[in-house]
Amino acid sequence: MINYSVDKYYVIGNPIAHSLSPEIHNEFARQTGQLLTYERLLVPLDSFASTVKKLHHEGIKGINITLPFKQQAFQYSSQLSERAQVAGSVNTFIYHNKGWSGDNTDGEGLIHDLIHHLKWSLEKKSILIIGAGGAARGILKPLLDQKPQRLTIANRSVEKARLLAEDFLSYGKITTHQGSFAELEGQCFDLIINASSASLQNESLGLPRSLIHPDLFCYDLAYSSTNTSFLQWAQSGGCRNCADGLGMLLAQAAEAFFIWRKIKPDYATILTQLRLNFYRKKTLTNP
Ligand code: NDP
Repeated sequence: MINYSVDKYYVIGNPIAHSLSPEIHNEFARQTGQLLTYERLLVPLDSFASTVKKLHHEGIKGINITLPFKQQAFQYSSQLSERAQVAGSVNTFIYHNKGWSGDNTDGEGLIHDLIHHLKWSLEKKSILIIGAGGAARGILKPLLDQKPQRLTIANRSVEKARLLAEDFLSYGKITTHQGSFAELEGQCFDLIINASSASLQNESLGLPRSLIHPDLFCYDLAYSSTNTSFLQWAQSGGCRNCADGLGMLLAQAAEAFFIWRKIKPDYATILTQLRLNFYRKKTLTNP
């Protein structure tokens, strides 16, 4: 008997209506000739575990997990990849050996976008990361693996940055900025990554203009149908090299797709089209 069933995947979160993941994965499936469905599912805040159980009983092959469930997914995983262990959060589940195996593709997504797509080498560069939340934690080791000259974390709550840096000391040269963002005055970096969620509220970080120089690269993990507030700051000061996190979103999705289907889609070819669709929707969003 021929089995006509189609493999099913979901992205789960709360809220979830804004998620671009179904558009991305369905395009990946079309591009690679894979037969599958991928949908978004809104999960009540207290129902993560029961929803994942239900999805397993329905025969779902894989799940992407977004805010606010990435830490719960980490706790729930029966096995963890090394990068999920280091990140302390999970954004991709694959059902494996009678349990959900957890991975985290965010760091890989950023590195792929920066190095392979934007052709920006990180070796011997001086990097400033703004923010010390889940996204910052997920990108730290992949960034340190690229052997930057130094990596500094600056966060609104300084103590949180210090604790985060402490966890990663064994992976490379990492320091904490001990003051306000304004007190970064006089320092010089090659790359500034905004891993704070300030752009989502369209809030200014209050960074000093003196950080901007002609060779600076500014990367905002957030993405928006208009320029994010961080990239507006960079460009208004004359920064010529700027990117938002849409490429990272696509690259981390491509990695999740690879985990599930063992085939790597070419995300760069759909970046332009996705951005056009996204501009039409005119929304500010969260992955
Ligand atoms: P968290 O809630 O875990 O952390 C938020 C961080 O932002 C904290 O360090 C917080 O500082 C800081 N912050 C929030 N508001 C402000 C503000 N007004 N001024 C200064 N700092 C602020 O969020 P995540 O780490 O999960 O997400 C961070 C960003 O990364 C979001 O924009 C998210 O959309 C983006 N992201 C993008 C991905 C992609 O694929 N492109 C993937 C994952 C995340 P404090 O500690 O002081 O509260």
